[in-house]
Amino acid sequence: MEKILLHTCCGPCLLYPAKKLRSSFDVICFYSNSNIHPQAEYEKRRENAIVTANKLKFLFIEGKYDPKVYFGVIKNRKNRCEACYTLRLEETGKKAKELEIGNFSTTLLVSPYQDIKKIQEIGKKIAKRYDLTFHDSDFREGFKEGREMAFHSGLYLQKFCGCSFSYIEKFESKINLQQERGNGGTGSI
Ligand code: SF4
Repeated sequence: MEKILLHTCCGPCLLYPAKKLRSSFDVICFYSNSNIHPQAEYEKRRENAIVTANKLKFLFIEGKYDPKVYFGVIKNRKNRCEACYTLRLEETGKKAKELEIGNFSTTLLVSPYQDIKKIQEIGKKIAKRYDLTFHDSDFREGFKEGREMAFHSGLYLQKFCGCSFSYIEKFESKINLQQERGNGGTGSI
């Protein structure tokens, strides 16, 4: 069976794409999320992603956690989500190439809160550059199912997208950071 490197943002978002992809691919999870803040949140999501990958019997690889790289790529960008998607998909494409895995995708494609068109566009561009195939399936139909599975498995269900800005937007909405956000996702999950 062909392999696919699946960028994994968290355990709950892994469940539905895993269900769809596992019949056609040998799935390897790649947890590469320097956007997540603070580090304790990064680690909490990583632990959930590991538990989920283990249950599914998927191999799990962790990328480098370096928040400075995330802040570097979003600096002076009108649309910080676009830069954030690019960073994580670029790292996934690069890792797939390094491991000689011809396919990659992302669990971000399951979230109705993300800009799916932008993710598909970025994924395809990166795939072209590395001579890989980006699987751009729209998994959003399974978002609710995935959340329910995650709830019943006792997984941690985060309430914000991941970065410090999304945390503030979600929990301290009186502070208006919309200008910094640009036109990307919603700052939610
Ligand atoms: S809101 Fe989400 S997608 Fe956008 S920059 Fe923050 S973590 Fe990345």
